[in-house]
Amino acid sequence: MADKYVYDFEEGNKDMKNLLGGKGANLAEMTRMGLPVPHGFTVTCEACNAYRDAGRQFPDGMLDEVATHLENLEEGMGRRLGDPGDPLLVSVRSGAPFSMPGMMDSVLNLGLNDQSVEGLTKQTGSDRFAWDSYRRLLQMFGRTVMGVAGDRFEEAIEHAKEAKGVHNDLDLDAGDLRGLVEEFKGIVADDTGREFPQDPKEQLRLGIEAVFGSWDNKRAVDYRRKNKIDDSLGTAVNIQAMVFGNKGDDSGTGVAFTRNPANGDPAPYGDYLVNAQGEDVVAGIRNTLKLEQMGDVQPRAWEELQAHMRTLEQHYRDMCDIEFTVEQAKLWLLQTRIGKRTAFAEWVMAYDMLSEGLIDVDTASLRLDANRLEELFKKVIAEGGAEAIATGLNASPGAAVGKAVFTADDAEVWAERGEPVILVRRETTPDDYHGMIRSQGVLTSAGGTNSHAAVVARGEGIPAVCGADAIRVDRQGKKFTVGQTTVAEGEWVTIDGFTGKVYAGQLDLADSPIERARSGDPEARKEKIWQAYERFMARADEVRRLKVRANADTPGQSGNAIERGAEGIGLCRTEHMFLGEERVAAVRTMIFAGSAEEEQAAYDALLPLQRDDFVGIFTAMDGKPVTVRLLDPPLHEFLPDQVDLAVSVALAKQQGASEVEVGGEALPLGQAEEMLAKVNDLHETNPMLGLRGVRLGIVKPGLYAMQVRAIIEAACQVKAGGGNPVVEIMIPLAATREELSQLREELEPVARQTLEEQGQELDVLWGTMIELPRAALVAGEIAEVAEFFSFGTNDLTQTAFGFSRDDIGKFLGMYEERKLVPANPFVTIDQAGVGRLMQIASQEGRASRSGLKLGICGEHGGDPDSVRFCHELGLDYVSCSPFRVPTARLAAGQAALGKATAASK
Ligand code: PEP
Ligand code: MG
Repeated sequence: MADKYVYDFEEGNKDMKNLLGGKGANLAEMTRMGLPVPHGFTVTCEACNAYRDAGRQFPDGMLDEVATHLENLEEGMGRRLGDPGDPLLVSVRSGAPFSMPGMMDSVLNLGLNDQSVEGLTKQTGSDRFAWDSYRRLLQMFGRTVMGVAGDRFEEAIEHAKEAKGVHNDLDLDAGDLRGLVEEFKGIVADDTGREFPQDPKEQLRLGIEAVFGSWDNKRAVDYRRKNKIDDSLGTAVNIQAMVFGNKGDDSGTGVAFTRNPANGDPAPYGDYLVNAQGEDVVAGIRNTLKLEQMGDVQPRAWEELQAHMRTLEQHYRDMCDIEFTVEQAKLWLLQTRIGKRTAFAEWVMAYDMLSEGLIDVDTASLRLDANRLEELFKKVIAEGGAEAIATGLNASPGAAVGKAVFTADDAEVWAERGEPVILVRRETTPDDYHGMIRSQGVLTSAGGTNSHAAVVARGEGIPAVCGADAIRVDRQGKKFTVGQTTVAEGEWVTIDGFTGKVYAGQLDLADSPIERARSGDPEARKEKIWQAYERFMARADEVRRLKVRANADTPGQSGNAIERGAEGIGLCRTEHMFLGEERVAAVRTMIFAGSAEEEQAAYDALLPLQRDDFVGIFTAMDGKPVTVRLLDPPLHEFLPDQVDLAVSVALAKQQGASEVEVGGEALPLGQAEEMLAKVNDLHETNPMLGLRGVRLGIVKPGLYAMQVRAIIEAACQVKAGGGNPVVEIMIPLAATREELSQLREELEPVARQTLEEQGQELDVLWGTMIELPRAALVAGEIAEVAEFFSFGTNDLTQTAFGFSRDDIGKFLGMYEERKLVPANPFVTIDQAGVGRLMQIASQEGRASRSGLKLGICGEHGGDPDSVRFCHELGLDYVSCSPFRVPTARLAAGQAALGKATAASK
């Protein structure tokens, strides 16, 4: 059979989206259901693609098919296109497989010309209506098909109104509109050098061509890039008999949702506009009525519409959004689709539909978007309508309001005196941690979604907007500017981590009911959203195979993690335990130590501090496994910035000063010079690939020995108090089997000796991170000396791609836009590359050691698509920031229920 390019609405169904587009497939479905849909047919996406592939040539036979279907349509309607006595008019609308609202072209009223406009007058008895329809056609056709600048038509309408001394389009009468039609024809001819085509079949052909062409207009291309829609899908074209909502007060047009898309309420929601055509609604040119008020003006159509809404919901088993028109009291449905909704509404609707028996619990669970779960907990901006001064990346969800401060120290001081602050930085470093955790929110002008600020903010549940590059941060001047706006220290600023928007001033925020419920508010616990949360999380926990742990470094974070359902700690980073004045001083002593004794003294000073940290964590996690990672970052991070220090020393020397200010502390010049020498000594061009992780442990053996001793002593202390510490010690950044075997030979005796001293017994698991490609490739060997692997997919992504984690923000956006990477690989595991390394490591690791425990602790552990991938890979657990634990639990449940990952969809 030759290719079939055109389908009558009676031939299609809702599952044919890829061929008929979303609109076409659903029009066909509604037609099959016997709902009142004006007759019509669909030219397929395949025809569009064939047209594009052939250099803008319709495929053979397509126009003949269109002609046949048009004849059927004419027969069915009892009218002919272009008939001077009683013309059929049609709409030509785009409709791609995925909704791309307003991105492509549509033309209404096709089939009118100088003769048929008279026929329309006769048939409708309204010359005003007929001439208004003709002028709308000229305007739309001129603009979208013939490429005339739309302003020229608008200006002509404005002039006509001015000449008549009226303000409203409705005050133009038939004569005025007739004049406008002539004027519009002149504009078309003048602008394009061509006459408006009077032949309706020619209009139709050009209309179809214009819709096909609009798939490649800039708006549509940009929209697809942003929403990751495949360019090769093409759009269908729907040709449908026109119905008119602008035939008087017994006509109208509207949009209806079967439930409230904002809060999920099970009641119809939408707008109705009396005596108007579809484009008037979008243009917002007149006041709309609330949908339910339609009952006052169109009681019968309203009754019918409600019945159809119920039918559609029952049929689609989901909330539908519907476009409809009432023509002289007769209701017509013009479009339906599954309606978009907020995260909140999504949960409420799923719960209601489950209670109503519309869907079962697993269908409901699979419908939830795990990516948006966190939104349920966060504060939101209560008032709408404020204008943003800048937009960055929505790096950590939630809205926050506070006074702008520009250093971490200021954030701390201001917060201590009870002032809410937003910490504004170009970017943050580990030194800013103390200020970040005291801030309501964090705003940076540089850095991506995996920058330090973003990772820490997500980890701490602090809203953050990162990489708002229109903002100039003046740290010295304690202000930031964006365009004409300046926000100085102490002035209010509001950020929205859901949208990435930044507002000057203090907007009102509201608490989420689910957060109130979680913290025990009995009233909030009665709310449906909480019931929905409990129900679907329980189901996810019931079915999931992956365990979910948290990345937590403090007892406070551990508590947060447990409250959210964490089953252990998958990554306890120990670097934060080396910050704070007293500890940094000890670390510096260790770095500067001139002798083994001096170095040991520094370890002795650090040991009790570390032990207390671990006691807190083991106590909080009682009975649950805690993976403690030995120190990872390069040592220079504990020293002052090289350039700052060099400048300070040079200045002091030039001015003959005897002291140099270093990090707020006055140091004798000699000591500052000594420090500078050490900083220079430790300086690395590529610190991420330098002396860090296991390499640090090898170069400074006392360091890891001290940490192991602190861990074991803490575990013994907790155990002695009746607790049950479950200890896993993890060595970072290993690339070879030998690194691990040598370190284990050094460290295991320390653990044994400590246990002996304490008179305790304890099983300790020794494992490593797999975060270098080499480690993944020799995982079989590494597993001989490691009892568990935890995939450090942040570093693994960095090293597999050779993309710097810290600098990638500068061009990653462009890479994503141009589809040079399938998605941001620091957010979602790159399955083809990084995922392949994980697969090799898992298989070869387990082949070498059966029962090897496998987990992931990179940021990807809280990304739903990556969680599903980990499920498919057969890992034992994922570990993510405490606030993402519910997300990972839900995603793991959905994976077990069979939700496919994005890459394998
Ligand atoms: C990783 O690299 O994925 C990891 C968890 O370690 P870090 O982010 O601390 O380097
Ligand atoms: Mg790492």
